[in-house]
Amino acid sequence: MSEPLLEIRGLRKHYGAVRALDGIDLQVRAGSVYGFIGPNGAGKTTTIRILAGLIRPTSGSVFLGGRDLRADRVRAAQGLRALVEVPSFYPGLSGRENLTVFAKLARAEAGDVDRLLEAVGLTHAAQRAVGGYSLGMRQRLGIAQALVGKPRLVVLDEPMSGLDPSAIHLVRELILAERQTRGVTFFLSSHLLHDVETLCDEVGIIHRGAIVAEGRIEELLGDAISGYHVRTADDAKALEALTASIPAARPRLHPDGGLVVEGDEALAPALHRALLEVGMPAIAVTPMRETLERYFIEKTDGVMG
Ligand code: ATP
Repeated sequence: MSEPLLEIRGLRKHYGAVRALDGIDLQVRAGSVYGFIGPNGAGKTTTIRILAGLIRPTSGSVFLGGRDLRADRVRAAQGLRALVEVPSFYPGLSGRENLTVFAKLARAEAGDVDRLLEAVGLTHAAQRAVGGYSLGMRQRLGIAQALVGKPRLVVLDEPMSGLDPSAIHLVRELILAERQTRGVTFFLSSHLLHDVETLCDEVGIIHRGAIVAEGRIEELLGDAISGYHVRTADDAKALEALTASIPAARPRLHPDGGLVVEGDEALAPALHRALLEVGMPAIAVTPMRETLERYFIEKTDGVMG
């Protein structure tokens, strides 16, 4: 990998006896969208709060652009934006005024404020006082604020939480566009693995304060077949036949109909044979590939976040 934009080395955070972070290492390439995922209580927010400078680590280092955030925070944190929990604004000022104040401080280009208000779907509410904004509207404004000026690295804690489906769509498009056109790098935590899969190119999985997997999503998941979805004329009878002949493939009924079995390409002939033997050829056999959700569950002992 070329020099990472963000590098975390041996980061630990202990709260008394609780080891929230137990020595994590990770690297985020410039220009990537990095998904930071893990079950509840794994240490995501703790990591993000350290990045944001809200809490101090027990030990370990964070480097941004090669500079140590702890030793040289003012210079190292230049261009670092973090949106953690509910963003705070001046309640008496409008959405546009809030962003304008921020844009002046960030020496942003003229037009940035209106462009971003539109991108998060807040143009219609831009003149209203933020004190009257809903939680989701504040979240949208917070994301717009994080992108004002030309940030290098934008750290977002659960950016999609509390957003409606159209806002989720807008934010996803905005993140991809900012990365594409302005080279902004993103580090975001999320429990929405489908969104992570469509948005992020790299992920890090944290579990009990340690990184258990990291890398490009397609490399982690591979393109190997992980199982098959099978349609037959009689699912109950097929389940019985498959359970008797290929129990290791853990045949089970799929909630949406049909059955699923686990295994790679080598399983297909045995699967067809077992069904033919009971006089019930498969109507359809569809290969299933590894999903981020399955991979996540496997890496985190089935503790779903
Ligand atoms: P979630 O997905 O539920 O938001 P998370 O991955 O963000 O979880 P953290 O909030 O980082 O998890 O918490 C990691 C661990 O540190 C948990 O065991 C949590 O209880 C503990 N922890 C976090 N903050 C504190 C604190 N201020 N005092 C004591 N323990 C804390």
